[in-house]
Amino acid sequence: MINCYLGIDIGSISTKGVIIDDDNNIISSSYIETNANPIQAIKILLHNLKEDFDENKYVIKYVGTTGSGRKLIAKMIGAGTIKNEITAHAIGTITFHQDVKTILEIGGQDSKIIIIDNGIVTDYGMNTLCAAGTGAFLTSQARRLGLDVKDFGDIALRSKNPAKIAARCTVFAESDLVHKAASGYSQEDIVAGLVRSVAENYLNNVGKGKKIAAPVIFQGGVSKNSGVCRAFEELLQEKIIVDENGHLMGAIGVAIIAKREKKQCHFSFDIIDNNFATFTKECGKCPNNCEIICITKDDDLIDSWGNKCERGTIKKA
Ligand code: SF4
Repeated sequence: MINCYLGIDIGSISTKGVIIDDDNNIISSSYIETNANPIQAIKILLHNLKEDFDENKYVIKYVGTTGSGRKLIAKMIGAGTIKNEITAHAIGTITFHQDVKTILEIGGQDSKIIIIDNGIVTDYGMNTLCAAGTGAFLTSQARRLGLDVKDFGDIALRSKNPAKIAARCTVFAESDLVHKAASGYSQEDIVAGLVRSVAENYLNNVGKGKKIAAPVIFQGGVSKNSGVCRAFEELLQEKIIVDENGHLMGAIGVAIIAKREKKQCHFSFDIIDNNFATFTKECGKCPNNCEIICITKDDDLIDSWGNKCERGTIKKA
């Protein structure tokens, strides 16, 4: 049997998974919407990953999780490695682009920048507060314009005179969009203005004060938007590299880390058939009143966290 490694990156908007081999070749991958239901998303993701996975040829040796739901999902699938998104994205990117100096990442609901020097992360920034520089903003504006966000890149590239859209927050951007449409701007100029506003918002917020040097790699779901990519090239006056697997890089990175760490895992595709649920409980044993998150598998408690001291530990059955 050939060893391979599973990495899962679960965010509030999208869930990504990859299975890689010892040479970091992707054996199977999947990118789906989380749809506010991480447990169900993981089941669908594993189902998709299993379809391209030959269980008579490969065995999953180690498993890692990253993303905002990494702890919950690690408990659910028995992952041994849990890493934050910065580390996972950096390790994944450095593995394939050894000389990378800047990673721009724009996902569905947050964005980040990672500065790297000689293969080591020297600075980073994250933005989870302002939606104006994220994929969710582009998706909502596409809906408003009656367009599919997947077409945004091509439409934007046709523009000769991008509209200037106020990008500092979604409320301003939305009202400005209505105003520009009423002023007679063409659809391509409005779309080009929107994608440029996303790049500007990103550089003025998450990228503020950061030393952005080439090679610059752009990843996350929004990196597939050629309009945003061109806007970054114009604003930074640098070539922007988009890896074809950039939208999966967090999952790839944490799979590589899991392979290196060799932490014991208890993974099986059979978990697709288990019933998982979560609930929260207030400890109430002191004024801190910690909120404790519990996860159950087929009604049995498998783990809990959130208590600040031992007194709040919830015992497994
Ligand atoms: S877990 Fe500890 S700190 Fe938190 S409420 Fe309970 S007793 Fe207080």
